[in-house]
Amino acid sequence: MPAFDPTLPESDPEIARLVAEENRLENDKIRLIASENYASRAVMEATGSVFTNKYSEGYPGKRYYEGQQVVDQVEELAVRRLKALFGAEHVNVQPYSGSPANLAVYFAFCNPGDTVMGLALPAGGHLTHGHTVSITGKYFKSVQYGVRKSDHRIDMDQVRDLARQSRPKLLWCGTTAYPRTLDFQAFRAIADEVGALLVADVAHLAGLICGGAHPSPVGIADVVTSTTHKTFRGPRGGMIFCKEKHAAAIDKAVFPGLQGGPHNHVTAAIAGAANEASRPEFKTYAKDVVENAQTLGAALTDAGFGVITGGTDNHLLLVDVTSKGTTGKQLAQALDRAGIVLNYNAVPFDPRKPFDPSGVRIGTPSVTTRGMGKDVMVRIADWINRVTQKPTDDASLARIAAEVKEVCAKYPAPGIRV
Ligand SMILES: *Cc1c(COP(=O)(O)O)cnc(C)c1O
Repeated sequence: MPAFDPTLPESDPEIARLVAEENRLENDKIRLIASENYASRAVMEATGSVFTNKYSEGYPGKRYYEGQQVVDQVEELAVRRLKALFGAEHVNVQPYSGSPANLAVYFAFCNPGDTVMGLALPAGGHLTHGHTVSITGKYFKSVQYGVRKSDHRIDMDQVRDLARQSRPKLLWCGTTAYPRTLDFQAFRAIADEVGALLVADVAHLAGLICGGAHPSPVGIADVVTSTTHKTFRGPRGGMIFCKEKHAAAIDKAVFPGLQGGPHNHVTAAIAGAANEASRPEFKTYAKDVVENAQTLGAALTDAGFGVITGGTDNHLLLVDVTSKGTTGKQLAQALDRAGIVLNYNAVPFDPRKPFDPSGVRIGTPSVTTRGMGKDVMVRIADWINRVTQKPTDDASLARIAAEVKEVCAKYPAPGIRV
């Protein structure tokens, strides 16, 4: 008897229906979540390929299973492309995602109880940089730096003072809700002064970096970690770049330290994303992402929103909505009903609770991938403003959702099938 091998709609109409619904949702809405994007059809095809079947614990040429004739070529190709794209001495493409990539760095260089330093979550840092609820804050002695009260920028004087006092093993620089350029050289100087390893986490910035729209920490930091699915536009995954002298420690930490078999279908898709990111069009994309964010920031400022730091150097804005008589969560929920998807977010020194903070985070990677430009950014600011004026008026929200859908129809998104 032949093996059971139906299509998704034949085998599981419920999931097939939900896939179709998600396609429609991602097609019809303006997606402004700063960590999201649209992966191309090519990236999706590789992710859905036969490589999901293969086990290949180890690294190319040093595997614990046979049958690696093709898989080794896939991983070597991904590594070769990423090294060229980022100018790195070494890269590991096996981390399952950004958080496991970061955990591998701790495992490579630290023992439980060692001191580590990172940007606090409420100031725009990531959970995995030593937040109390994270394993990285529980198993290590975490020292957190913040942003200045006066201008909401990272306070390098505070970073230096804290580093001198606490002598961390790892100094993390990397952000998830911070609109300004990171000064990797300044972090390097502090790490050198206190004998710390400098780790840059560019999860949000990888696409901007290889597109030339943000300075690169590669060659400055000892280790650079990233996701592959944010501005980089690849499949969900992680990667770690490092200097050659740290290559063995990083590789050993990822496998066998932390993970088993790599996700080869994802590795294939990362190779595809690296190929796309090496095209000249990707440089234009990265530049447009930043220009769109700046245009949106200026329009929101004109409309009376509290744009943190007065604007942005990258792909995201952090916006205090208090002046509009609303909260981050209320606004985010009203916007969702109006066809605009973003996330509520604490602003620096937020007097409100994290579950219903004063702000929202707004990112332009997804809308820029669809080819939306400055004219649409101005309309988005207007839609957001209109939602703050009548946040509970169903008819008004539905009217805006219809306008959003009409604009979205003019900008087909890569990878979406409706
Ligand atoms: C998104 C992000 C991560 C975590 O990535 P996951 O893939 O969600 O685990 C790590 N660091 C930073 C700075 C991020 O923005």
